[in-house]
Amino acid sequence: MQQLSEAEISAIKDESARAYELDRAHVFHSWSAQELIDPMTVSRAQGSTIVDGQGQSFLDFSSQLVNTNIGHQHPKVVQAIKDQADLLCTISPAHVNAARSEAARLITERTPAGLDHVFFTNGGADANEHAIRMARLHTGKHKILSRYRSYHGGTETAVNVTGDPRRWSNDRGDSGVVHFFGPFLYRSEFSATTEAEETERTLRHLERTIELEGPSTIAAIILESIPGTAGIMLPGSEYMQGVRALCDKHDIIYIADEVMAGFGRAGKWFAFEHFDVVPDIITFAKGVNSGYVPLGGVIMDEEIYGSFAQKAYPGGLTYSGHPLACAAAVATLKAMDEEGMIEHAERIGEEIIGPRLRQIAENSKHVGEVRGVGAFWAIELVWDKESREPLAPYGGGSPEVASVVAALKEHGVVPFNNYHRLHVVPPINISEEDLETGLGVFEKVLTDLDFSR
Ligand code: PLP
Repeated sequence: MQQLSEAEISAIKDESARAYELDRAHVFHSWSAQELIDPMTVSRAQGSTIVDGQGQSFLDFSSQLVNTNIGHQHPKVVQAIKDQADLLCTISPAHVNAARSEAARLITERTPAGLDHVFFTNGGADANEHAIRMARLHTGKHKILSRYRSYHGGTETAVNVTGDPRRWSNDRGDSGVVHFFGPFLYRSEFSATTEAEETERTLRHLERTIELEGPSTIAAIILESIPGTAGIMLPGSEYMQGVRALCDKHDIIYIADEVMAGFGRAGKWFAFEHFDVVPDIITFAKGVNSGYVPLGGVIMDEEIYGSFAQKAYPGGLTYSGHPLACAAAVATLKAMDEEGMIEHAERIGEEIIGPRLRQIAENSKHVGEVRGVGAFWAIELVWDKESREPLAPYGGGSPEVASVVAALKEHGVVPFNNYHRLHVVPPINISEEDLETGLGVFEKVLTDLDFSR
């Protein structure tokens, strides 16, 4: 990002002071106790850098909500949005539109054969709502199985399939959702000590859950291919293939939630490609156009499409396939190809982020585990490596974790934080120089930590 002039900084300070005042007076924030928050003002952004209300620059190692996969203000995508705005800002989903058609073509060009139809939504939660509705209508069954330690969105059904504390106060007894434990060796629920044991025991647990819930009642299993906010726990290929086999055996739809893990985040177009499995339905949002204009969607296979070929699908949205959002997706997917971003993400994960974080884990008293792939990494902060007790409780924060986040920010890096974890999730096209700078800050802050009780 170009150095800001004195005049620009002064303008930023003025506009940000006003913005903050108006925000606190009128803006109601997500998932928050409104009067206990002090939100950061972001006035400008470029690439991997964001600028606060004082004109100070930070490296954005959060990619906001892990959505700005191509960084901020990518010139090709900004231009595509401007061009589309000049041409046609909005049009009903009932009409054909060039930006929408081309976005659907480019998206399905990247999916496995047979997943060729896209229903566009405004984001990830509504994509999951519709995926579940389709699975229920297609199978004529009602129950949905999903993992504990997962996030699928904030709307009614999506939050009920979610397996984290954000569900608790939104739980509906009649949602038909049943949760199960997925593989997570570091905090195994099954006393496993190896990946093989964890895979075998979690698959057995899922199989028993299906048997006891009744296969004839289960419409779908929804799984984040790699759980994101819940902790970036990579499942083994055998686990994912085992889930696929159980779905086939019991006529259950396998929905892959790729909202966070997809579009390059995990170093592949879709994260399930790591496990050699093909879902029946894929949901996406975020990285498809880096959130420059809200967009999500459901990609379905021929069988599910067939259920709605001669019979109307009972669902729709005014902004389904919004031209500005679709034009941004077209430009994003092209830029990802032209600039080799997927390969870049895979390589920086293998060659830079992974090795550096493992080194940090070795040297830090409070880093229990690091794990991830591509530009998608988690750091487990623990009281000590023996007990693995999280440095903040499940569903909450702690002064210790807050101090780590504050120290990272003081050194110019904004991380993604969930409970006791930090996630290293910069734009997938981050330059090596910015990446090294940011990782240097993580190294300094984390190796210096020395908490005691
Ligand atoms: N699914 C996953 C895996 C997500 O990470 C998210 C958001 O973080 C969602 C669904 C919900 O997406 P949205 O916030 O666009 O509704």
